[in-house]
Amino acid sequence: MPEYTTYRPDWQPEDAGSEFACQVMTGIDEKKLAERAAAKRAAPPQFVRRELTVDDYVQGVLRQDRMVLARAITLVESNAPKHFALGQEIIQKILPYTGNATRVGITGVPGAGKSTLIEALGNRLCDAGHKIAVLAVDPSSHVSHGSILGDKTRMETLTKRKEAFIRPSPSGGTLGGVTRKSRETMLLCEAAGYDTILVETVGVGQSETTVRSMVDFFLYVVLTGAGDDLQGIKKGVMETADAILVNKADGDNKFRAEVARSEYEQILHYLRPATEGWTTKAYTCSSVTGEGIAEIWEVVETFMRQMRERGTLESRRQQQTLSWVYQMTEEQIRNRIVTNPNVVACMEDVSRRISNSTMSATAAAQTLLDAIEIELKK
Ligand code: GDP
Repeated sequence: MPEYTTYRPDWQPEDAGSEFACQVMTGIDEKKLAERAAAKRAAPPQFVRRELTVDDYVQGVLRQDRMVLARAITLVESNAPKHFALGQEIIQKILPYTGNATRVGITGVPGAGKSTLIEALGNRLCDAGHKIAVLAVDPSSHVSHGSILGDKTRMETLTKRKEAFIRPSPSGGTLGGVTRKSRETMLLCEAAGYDTILVETVGVGQSETTVRSMVDFFLYVVLTGAGDDLQGIKKGVMETADAILVNKADGDNKFRAEVARSEYEQILHYLRPATEGWTTKAYTCSSVTGEGIAEIWEVVETFMRQMRERGTLESRRQQQTLSWVYQMTEEQIRNRIVTNPNVVACMEDVSRRISNSTMSATAAAQTLLDAIEIELKK
């Protein structure tokens, strides 16, 4: 309420009584008003985020609420024990609603054009009525702050689409941590109705193996100018691919891309295919002009259809989950061993005795095993 005082107009006699009911309001006191606004700015209203229950999360994800999905992912990505337990409860409850998506892994060296390809492919799929989730797996992201992969600024048009959900790599520290988080994120996205999951990873080291072990189809994006470079590509990596895609087949590069494609094709003849019953082939595309993008997706769809018809899709996924279970168990056991003070003391003792040649290697191994067994039983 603005303050006001009673003013006496000129025409009002000085000794006027209450018969003159005229009062004039003073203007607004600018100084006071400014003071109040400053005080308000200094103490902005506090937004308290309501804690969600497991059911809130589950219902939100199933309702395809992007905000709840993002929060559920943050939960499974958290390293806090309390969040871990809550995250696991959610995963358990959404499990029956998972497994309906086409899971595609995309790898290649930095600069091969993975992000550009995902943008082109993703937009095309969204136009065709699909809902796509793009996840990134990059165990080094705690160093690069997630800027190498799944960088939203590199998929500008896709990020703005409501049919697309883009999530950068979790910064999990260990590869095992990143693997768990990425797998569970994939499950959450499937439960939220995303029918296509594109998992991007960089073509170096273990992250490729990780992604291969969580997807149905693995696409290897390569560059032209192959020739001698072809020799540099590890045979092992090529043997994990379900298709090799020579990107940037446009302009002057088109011819060279075709040459590279046929060279890859020749090499593939001598390699073991990644998926039994499927012949890995090489293709060309341009993520810029869009040429070849529809064709490569057609390859993915044919693959999925054949896998489903043969029943190999289900069995591969079961195999993948099982080996993930073993991997996690192994990691947990190893952690328990290497952090156990008694085992650590035994290791130090054994290494001392080895270095002064008072114990044989076999006896040392046995001593360690005995110590581990005792500790694991506790
Ligand atoms: P990523 O590191 O594998 O994700 O590679 P990017 O998608 O960031 O692409 C690296 C560079 O190659 C960018 O400058 C892109 O514009 C360019 N690029 C990607 N795909 C194509 C393509 O099909 N043709 C051409 N000419 N350039 C491309």
